[in-house]
Amino acid sequence: MTIPAYVETPVERIPEIRDSLEKAFRSGKTKSVKYRKEQLLRLAYFVKDNVKPLQEALAKDLGRADAETSILELGNTLGDIKTSYENVAKWAKPERLPFMFNWFAMKPTLRKEPKGVVLIIFPFNYPIWLSLGPMAGAIAAGCAVVLKPSELTPAYSALIAELLPKYLDPEIYTVVNGAVPQATKLLELRWGQILYTGGGRVGQIILSAAAKTLTPVSTELGGKSPAVIDPNCDLKTSAKRLIWGKMSNSGQTCVAPDYVLVPKAFEAQFAQALKEVLYDFYPEGAGKSDSFSHMINGGHFERVKGLLDATHGEIVYGGSSDKEKLFIEPTIVTGVKADDSLMSEEIFGPVLPIVPVEDVDEAIEFINARDHPLALYIFSKSAAFKSKVIENTQSGSAIVNDTLIHGAVEGFPFGGVGPSGSGAHKGKFSFDMFTHIRPTLDNPSWVEMMMSGRYPPYTVAKASS
Ligand code: NAD
Repeated sequence: MTIPAYVETPVERIPEIRDSLEKAFRSGKTKSVKYRKEQLLRLAYFVKDNVKPLQEALAKDLGRADAETSILELGNTLGDIKTSYENVAKWAKPERLPFMFNWFAMKPTLRKEPKGVVLIIFPFNYPIWLSLGPMAGAIAAGCAVVLKPSELTPAYSALIAELLPKYLDPEIYTVVNGAVPQATKLLELRWGQILYTGGGRVGQIILSAAAKTLTPVSTELGGKSPAVIDPNCDLKTSAKRLIWGKMSNSGQTCVAPDYVLVPKAFEAQFAQALKEVLYDFYPEGAGKSDSFSHMINGGHFERVKGLLDATHGEIVYGGSSDKEKLFIEPTIVTGVKADDSLMSEEIFGPVLPIVPVEDVDEAIEFINARDHPLALYIFSKSAAFKSKVIENTQSGSAIVNDTLIHGAVEGFPFGGVGPSGSGAHKGKFSFDMFTHIRPTLDNPSWVEMMMSGRYPPYTVAKASS
């Protein structure tokens, strides 16, 4: 199919879109588990029926290989939908508290109620999974949903705006396309919940705006995720997994290893192993490879090139770029110091700085002197080394001897800690994000005989009871 044209939602229509979703939500139709399951099934069919157009859209937006879209987004998205479909009845069931003598007569119960009409704002880098994954949780929770895609992925954004209403109930689920004006208008309105995924700078704007309407927000942000290398690691496999995590989607991955901490004495050997992987992955060079994505736009191209141009480290692989093709070559830089340009912000591009340290203690200090990262990677064969790093640091997730794959593990939450985000999605965690746990009880009159002590007039005897 041809990808439809990208059309921005008129800003003035946004309040009425919100109102009509609210009205449909109030009708109560999302309360039934049967309805939610049907919508989840339809969402799964949307993905299954449209694998080609989805791949095509991401190829257009990011120059991404179809296989990478399947491996990094489609499987994971379908997994999240399936988990919600299979478990929604169990998750949504009211829970009676276990027997407690004082309370049992009142039947204390936790009701799982949808938070209402919710807003999911997501970025350009993994737009399928970061929209439809959490949306599956919101559907399971019984919420009405507005998806707000990134204006930087016009093909994907246009595709879902056109096709989702053909699969899902359009009275309850919708897409608002556009950039800052649309996002700003959305943020003037009150939502049951906002899930924002993107950079920290915009995260601050979202949180400030949401404070005005007292809308709860979960933030999935970025940051510099380190990889700590123990010389006692499986060198070849570690290098392969690290380069895969770094160079997928041209480094535009929130949980990409941002930089590497290596003992000085091992730096050259480790850099050599990384170079060999790059020769294997891109035998003709990444510039000629169909397996390597490009930067999303000129702004991000210039930003990453600027960081690279200003480095005082030694470029031992790569370093070239082509603005017209938005191409930055996979690049490895050794001897990078803490005050280097490449350490000044999240790189979010295919440049891997190697920061030499004395030992694991210095690596831990280095990590702890910075914002808690979204992910922390450790490559080691030593149980003591692994646990030392994990026990003495904080991060959204801590992954040993691999990169990225934790986003696909069923039962794992996906989220950060502190400056890398608050709240988490995926599977049950998405359901919980969009669910209000509403305690209810019903106190029968006969319990009164045990409760008279709570009423005035208060006496000395009542004070000590
Ligand atoms: P982006 O530019 O696509 O923006 C994200 C969203 O914010 C878009 O929908 C955009 O329209 C909206 N937006 C932009 N400016 C806005 C404004 N002024 N007001 C309101 N909304 C606005 O993506 P990005 O922010 O460049 O994304 C990259 C960042 O996202 C990286 O830092 C990356 O690490 C992070 N990220 C985090 C996760 C995670 O799960 N933690 C996942 C992916 C990306």
